[in-house]
Amino acid sequence: MAVRNRVYPASAQLGGLAGHCGQARYVWNLAVEQQSWYWPGRGSAPSAAQRYRQLAEARKAEPWLAAGSSSIQQQALRDFDRAMAAFFDPASPARKPGYRSRRQVQGFAIRDTRARRLSRRWGEVFVPKVGWVRFRWTRQLPERPGVSRVTCDRAGRWHVSFPAAQPAVIREPAGRAAGIDRGVRTALVTSAGQHYRAPAISGRRAARYLALQRKLSRQHQRSNGRERTRRQMALVAAAVTDRRKDWAEKISTRLIRDNDIIVLEKLNTPAMVRRPGPKPDPGQPGAFLPNRARAKAGLNRGILASCWGLLGQRLQDKAAASGVRVVFADPRFTSQQCHACGHAQPDNRESQAVFRCQQCGHLDHADRNAALNILARGLPLLAAGEPVPAHAPGHGAPRPRQPALAAAAGTTPEAA
Ligand SMILES: [Zn+2]
Repeated sequence: MAVRNRVYPASAQLGGLAGHCGQARYVWNLAVEQQSWYWPGRGSAPSAAQRYRQLAEARKAEPWLAAGSSSIQQQALRDFDRAMAAFFDPASPARKPGYRSRRQVQGFAIRDTRARRLSRRWGEVFVPKVGWVRFRWTRQLPERPGVSRVTCDRAGRWHVSFPAAQPAVIREPAGRAAGIDRGVRTALVTSAGQHYRAPAISGRRAARYLALQRKLSRQHQRSNGRERTRRQMALVAAAVTDRRKDWAEKISTRLIRDNDIIVLEKLNTPAMVRRPGPKPDPGQPGAFLPNRARAKAGLNRGILASCWGLLGQRLQDKAAASGVRVVFADPRFTSQQCHACGHAQPDNRESQAVFRCQQCGHLDHADRNAALNILARGLPLLAAGEPVPAHAPGHGAPRPRQPALAAAAGTTPEAA
């Protein structure tokens, strides 16, 4: 959890900030490369102290690195060490730290951050070698900011985040538990029968994004035009990302406020983002028709999947701060099983929306029936005192690393 504020650097500061990003990425990638050389039996990877020495040598050899801030470059190494420690942590294993690309969100970390308030709406943070950089002041900063992070997203927007404890959601014990079913289409449904829609991309935005994507595929690699198209795509994606984040915040707060126990499905989120299948052209064997509608559906599926990842993460953060338990239950056959008698059969699901048990005649909304099953499966896990995993097993960290649209970007066939 962090307090995150939009940064508005002066144009003279942009070069310095971008330089820090590039150098932090370079140092990180060197550490990844070095690590990839070591595995059990081949000795151990260099220690942190050795790496700092190597960094000092690299700075001597490389004027570009030497011109940057050594504290920011050292912090990139510390970040890498932390990521490796998280990767080896048996309690909640994280993804293995990988190479960082120029195309992803860029950023660097500042140690012993100094920040101050300028006015009601503005503050500034000190960036080594760049100076004081202005940011929009939205929430009270922590007393001692510690390590802050400056990032630049793919749409070129800068942010600074200061680590802060997740504030508790103001609530009273409600004596309620909720199972939550992730709808395949647009909604999440609770066992109490509430439906929540996830933000989808509008038709106009999707059309623009897909058009840009097609344009990109025709442009030369490493050309300026291609870079511009990429930025335009990122701008569309950023608008969607903002809505998605907003949605996850609102819904997670509401769910935490209303329930003492929340049961979620253990779902393999990335598997939900599938490439739409090519449509063969009946008139021309071996040829394929454009399937733009499916490409748009693919975009929305990607957004939905990332909404889920984000919601799961925010639910866990807020639950931990607010005395609410979050459990993950096995979702297999929850959509086919009758909540009243337990009979499980695909025919029970009459349609996308209607569940009618073939054995006892129980009738319910299909997603609500599934949510009730999820709740019923989750409660015994709590009662048995089983350790509840911090992340759903198999998820790694369920936090999406990239905007949703990027995840779905592979969905348009080039033939379209
Ligand atoms: Zn039944």
